[in-house]
Amino acid sequence: MAPIAIGIHGGCGTPARELLGEADWAETKAHLEQSLRAAWAILAAGGKALDAVEAAVVVMEDSPHFNAGHGAALTEAGAHELDASIMEGAGMAAGAICAARAIRNPIRAARAVMEKSDCVLLAGDAADAFARKAGLATVPNSYFTTERRRQALASLKARAARGTIAMASEAERHGTVGAVALDAGGTLAAATSTGGFNNKPVGRVGDSPIIGAGTYARNGVCAVSCTGQGELFIRRVVAYDVAARMHYAGQTLEQATDAQIFDVLTGHQIGAGLVAVDAAGHVRAPFNTLGMCRGWIEADGAIHIATHKDVERRGVAARG
Ligand code: ASP
Repeated sequence: MAPIAIGIHGGCGTPARELLGEADWAETKAHLEQSLRAAWAILAAGGKALDAVEAAVVVMEDSPHFNAGHGAALTEAGAHELDASIMEGAGMAAGAICAARAIRNPIRAARAVMEKSDCVLLAGDAADAFARKAGLATVPNSYFTTERRRQALASLKARAARGTIAMASEAERHGTVGAVALDAGGTLAAATSTGGFNNKPVGRVGDSPIIGAGTYARNGVCAVSCTGQGELFIRRVVAYDVAARMHYAGQTLEQATDAQIFDVLTGHQIGAGLVAVDAAGHVRAPFNTLGMCRGWIEADGAIHIATHKDVERRGVAARG
């Protein structure tokens, strides 16, 4: 049987364990598992990697525990501007939206841009208008707000006033969600969605909607979704660089992802992580922060979920 695989991340800005209660962690993990299972059901039924990564990301966008969709970060003006992208490795088709303010599930809009327009990236009001026209759900900007993000914004503004911004935790600052998949037909896909950085300048766009920086997929090589300080990921073209290391330099998925996260990005002293899958269905999810919500199911069906260092096994998903 041809291998299938799904890998997800919920951002490398995961709070320290003691900052959230047991119930919050249990729900965070339940939503990670739900995201994995939604994708796996599609892949196990012979469905497309593209559908699987979209389904996985939608679950995390709808969850308040991740910085994407409901639960997204706030700009310095106290509003939400959302970025997302999706890519399929067969024809290297891609779509993205950035600085959108009303699209309930930004990843669905990224896919609509890919499939229903001649563009790769639509920004701001044009992205919102495009989503409405494509029949996607739109919501008031306040739908995305949660108490946790409001507190993070207040805390960052207080730090900025005191000149202690450098001491802010990764969790206060940022997060993202992403998914990568391999389907039974050998096609790879990647998807990423984010509210970006808390207290970001209005109009700031990170790496998540930039193909090659935050998201990349190429059949026969790998699919990658990134999380961390977007400016560095754009300058280092991180997702593409992982694929290039494998394709041109013959590195394994492990070598290529470890080199990016632990050598290149750690060298810049930024929090960074990613999830990636190769053409054989191996999943890697390296990060250099305290924690990164993540999960994966490889060909054997074993479900893995983690928020910090330890990885939990959660049974085996059927192949059907
Ligand atoms: N990469 C995202 C951005 O810069 C943030 C993150 O992943 O934490 O917008």
